[in-house]
Formats: sequence, C-alpha cells, structure tokens
Amino acid sequence: MRWNFDHSYARLPAPFFSRVDPVPVSAPRLVLLNRALAEELGLDADELARPDAALVLAGNQRADASDPIAQAYAGHQFGHFTLLGDGRAHLLGEHLTPDGRRVDIQFKGSGKTPYSRRGDGRAALGPMLREYLISEAMQGLGIPTTRSLAVVATGERVFREDAIPGAILTRVAASHIRVGTFEYAAALDRGLDVPGHPGSQLVHGDKAGGVKDGNLHARALADYTLQRHYPALAESPTRYADLLDAVMDRQAALIAQWMRVGFVHGVMNTDNMTLSGETIDYGPCAFMDQYDPATVFSSIDRQGRYAFANQARIAQWNLARFAETLLPLMDANPEAALPRAEEAIHRFPTLFAGYWLTAMRAKLGLANAEPEDSALIESLLEWMHQVGADYTNTFRDLASRAAMEAPATVNPVFGDPAFTSWHLRWNERLKREPDGLDQALVRMRAASPAVIPRNHRVEEAIAAAVGFGDLGPAHRFLEVLADPYDTRLDDSDYRQPPPPEQRVYQTFCGT
Ligand code: AMP
Ligand code: MG
Repeated sequence: MRWNFDHSYARLPAPFFSRVDPVPVSAPRLVLLNRALAEELGLDADELARPDAALVLAGNQRADASDPIAQAYAGHQFGHFTLLGDGRAHLLGEHLTPDGRRVDIQFKGSGKTPYSRRGDGRAALGPMLREYLISEAMQGLGIPTTRSLAVVATGERVFREDAIPGAILTRVAASHIRVGTFEYAAALDRGLDVPGHPGSQLVHGDKAGGVKDGNLHARALADYTLQRHYPALAESPTRYADLLDAVMDRQAALIAQWMRVGFVHGVMNTDNMTLSGETIDYGPCAFMDQYDPATVFSSIDRQGRYAFANQARIAQWNLARFAETLLPLMDANPEAALPRAEEAIHRFPTLFAGYWLTAMRAKLGLANAEPEDSALIESLLEWMHQVGADYTNTFRDLASRAAMEAPATVNPVFGDPAFTSWHLRWNERLKREPDGLDQALVRMRAASPAVIPRNHRVEEAIAAAVGFGDLGPAHRFLEVLADPYDTRLDDSDYRQPPPPEQRVYQTFCGT
C-alpha cells in the first residue's frame, strides 16, 4: 500500500506513550475513502478501496512497518486539569509523503488503550462521518485542519444511549501534539504521581547523560516540536520563547479563520488545541446559520465558555497554560521568564484582531486598511445580529454587482432601512479601493464561501448513511464542500438555511 512509516514520536521518553495494538473488530467494511487525499499521500487509492484493505483500515491487519502507540497527554477540560491520553486512538506512525511531509496516521475508535479510563475505546459511525465531513469541509474552505482518509464500519455495535453501529476513522494530521501534551510533560517534570495513570510509574529516575534534568520531559517535547513544526527556530538561543510566539501566531491566525466562516469548535479544551495550528477534534462543533455571537451548540457547554465570540479569549487562556509549561525552559529561574511570557500572552488579542480584521476586510472587498474599517464591519455584524441574518449568505450575497447597486433585489433582508445606511457607507468606502470593484468582488468571493457544512445538511447526510447505508448524500455534499467558493454554487440548494423545523440548536459530543 506504499505506507512509508517512521516513528519519531516513539523516540521521546517512555512516559509519552504506550505501545498498544488496535483491537480487531468483527466485520470491517469501508464506508468512505478519501481518494484525493490518498493520492496526495502517495498511497494507492484503488488498493485502499479493495475489500481486504478494510482489514488494514480497521487495525485487524497491520499496515506495513506501522508500530502502533497511544499517546499520553493531559488537558484542561472546561477549565479543570485532567490526565488524559488516547483512550480510543492508535497512532500507526508518521507517514512520509512523496512531497516530503511527515504526517501522523491515526485510528480513532480502534479499541481500548491504557488511557481509556471508563471508556470503551470505540467510536460510533455517525460521529466519525461527521468528523470526516466537517474536517474535509474545513480543508475545502482553506483552513488548517486534520484530514480524514477513511471511515470503516466495524460490524459491531457501540453502546451509547442506544446500541448503534461502530466505526473507525483514519485521521491524518501534521501531528497530534497538543497544548495538553505540554501540560502532561510539565506534570511529569513536577513528579507526576497519579495512581492508575500509565505515565506515572515511569517518571522517576529518568536521567539525561547522567545529569538529572528537572525539565527533561518538557525540554524533550519542546525540542521535538521545534524540529517538527518550527525548524527555523530550532537553533535559536531563545527558542522556547520563540516557540511560544510562533504557536500563538498560528492559533491567532486559525481562530480568525474560524470566525471568517462562522465555525464554532465547541470543545476548545487544551487537549484539543494543536501545536501545529491545525483544527482538531470535531465533536460538537458546528457552523452558524443566523449570526449570533453567543452561539453555542454543544450540549455540555452550559456556560457558553466556548461560544462563537469567545473563541479568541479561550485560545488566549489555553495559550497561557502552554506558556506556563515553557517557563522553566525559558529561564533556569522560571520566575525570571514570567515577564517575557506574560508580555507574549497579553499580545494575543492584538495579534488576533489583526488577523480577524484582515479576514473581515476581505469579506467586504477591502484590501487596503483604513481606521474606520473596524467600525464598518462591526456595524454590519450588529445589524445582522438584530435581524437574525444568515452569516454565510449575507456576505456571499453582498459579493455581486447587483448587491452593490440594488441590494434588495439580491436578498430581501437587504431592504431593511437600517441596512440601507450601512450600505451607503460601504459603497463610499469601496470607492477608495484603488483596484476597482471587480477586484473587490473577487476578494469577497474568495473570503466568503457560498456553501458551508450547514448542520441540517450534515445531519441529513449522516442519517442517510447510518440509517439506510446510502452514501449518496455524503458523496454529493463532499464534492460541493471541496470547492465551496465556486461561483457555480451561487444557486446551489446547499446554500439554503434550515427551515425552522430543521434548525439545530444543540450538538452532542463526538462519541
Ligand atoms: P474528546 O472529548 O474527544 O477530546 O476526548 C477526551 C478524552 O476522552 C480523550 O482522552 C479521549 O481519548 C477520551 N475518550 C473519548 N471517548 C472515549 C471512549 N469511547 N473510550 C475511551 N476513551 C474515550
Ligand atoms: Mg480530544
């Protein structure tokens, strides 16, 4: 199958992982295969589509030279520190692609590991299809994300509220290093001793070259992360502070992209934030239909901690947890490193605002910057909130000549008098763009998709697949989501917001 595995993660100190094989399943059957991604990775898509390949994609048969491990990590979940780890995932190894990239190949739902706690190690078909659809939609939107190579049904049932079909997702990621992995490393260095956690017995007596390094685990992980994701910084004398800056920068850029398309992640726990800057862990996430900054979908997020408009603040909070793990590496006296780290974390809102403004300017066709742009964007958003306008369609509908001249003919909501005054301001502002209206329209269409994975359509595709074995809706949707900015989609049925009876107010964790 032309897997080309290396196992650099498994060369980290022992407490970072456990060697453990996937648990075979009774009747694996391929449900979805990402042919384009397979080819990109240098794998043979035809071979992967053959019935016997499902045995490999379920973990029943070993992919050549894979060496499965489960990764240990910790995390702040809804603000509370917990020891975690891959409770239902196996990292097969890092596949080296023909174009020279190193990507993790990971199964999700592949059986119990030493980190499973009370979980069954399994995943259900619906949520794995959901992760596949939404992660590939993010890819189509041009937003950094883990990818989905395949979903196989296991032929077994998993027991949630009901007995439902089980599945395994093959996830492809730049890596699975999380903020929570650093929190775990720092906890190891503090002498983590948690009865029952596999990492805890292994820590004591770890030595580097005979010299006890009190920060061995954090240092090993930070150096590894630098090599893998920020090689240009690896030799810098201030590399750990630089790592903080670089990770912050990628996260600021990422969250701004989420905001651009109306994405609510839903569980921004520190174990769900990557060091690579990819979006990870598609559980109760969803895209907004009507614009409301307080939008929350996740049934378990009762306080709105991870609401749409809160995401940058939460990213900053998570990054502060990350910074804490780097303090002892930044300076032998962690106290002395504090001002540098604090300065970095306090910079985050400005950093984010810069990315956000650039993205939102593009949505209004603006390339050059003027001081009033922020107010112009905010007042449109305020109006959208007041009238309950659809986030995606409002911006997409603005991106036409007709909308510039006679907006109400494009979308009746633009007939609102409060919109008219905003529209005049916007038109005046557009006149000051040096490269003309056509270029402005190009920018707008590149920043505002016609189609997003609206929840009711995601649910519809999943229901057809799970209930009737009909993958047609999923395939058709995926095709559209691969190029959501295409102007041929402007009349697409996928643009329709949900009718009232199909509105989704709550999503449930990806179990
Ligand atoms: P998540 O909410 O998906 O980020 O998962 C949080 C933690 O729970 C991770 O350590 C998962 O591996 C673990 N977990 C979630 N579901 C299961 C399950 N069914 N069996 C074992 N561990 C699980
Ligand atoms: Mg997770």
